Order: sequence, then structure tokens, then C-alpha cells
Amino acid sequence: MSSLDRRPCPVCGEQIAAAARKCRFCGELFDEPADARDEPAGDGTGGLIPYKNVPALIGYYCGVFSIIPCFCIGLAGLVLGILGLRKVARHPEVKGTVHAWIGILAGGFFGLLWLGLTILGVVFGR
Ligand SMILES: [Zn+2]
Repeated sequence: MSSLDRRPCPVCGEQIAAAARKCRFCGELFDEPADARDEPAGDGTGGLIPYKNVPALIGYYCGVFSIIPCFCIGLAGLVLGILGLRKVARHPEVKGTVHAWIGILAGGFFGLLWLGLTILGVVFGR
């Protein structure tokens, strides 16, 4: 283990792994820039509304509004939900897994339902 792999925790001063995202002594998280921690309001609501995961958030609203009989909204929710899940997989701190899944499930279900009904309408409506 070289000294390059270690650094002192900025909060408690204990030696921790340089790549560590959390201090194992005091529990301080390092995965966000220091200035982001100056916004307690953002942290307080970050778990409920994934502001940092825009695809998941928009996908969620598309999923909710996909009950409107227009398949474009549902399919947009499905695609955005998948993009949101990919974003969470790469950056877990952005959150939004639940929102993304609602977009995928609700958007996918209603999107395909309305798409199917639209096709049926085109085929049999003549
Ligand atoms: Zn510490």
C-alpha cells in the first residue's frame, strides 16, 4: 500500500483510502462536491424527487400522464424510464429508481395499450 492511495479525511483527519466515497471513521460522504453539502433543502428532498435524474423524473410524469389515450406519452415514459435507470446504475447518488420504474411500467403498459388500440383502430376502423 503506497502513501499515494491514502489521504486524510477533511472532517476528522483520519487516514482513509484516496478513492473512498465515505470516511470509515466519521461517516462523512465525499461523492458530492463540498458546495453541494451547503444546500440542506436539496438533501432533504433529494430522496423523494430526483432533481438530478432528469430522464427518470420526466419519465415518471410521462408514465403518470400516459393514461391519456396518446401512445407517444407512454412510449416516451418507457424510454426515459430506461434512460433514468441507466443513469442511476452509473451514478447512484442521482436517485430516481422508483420514478424511472413508474415511467417504465406505467408508460410501457399504457403506451403499448394505446398503441395497440390505435393500430386496431387503423386496421379495423376503415
Ligand atoms: Zn472522517
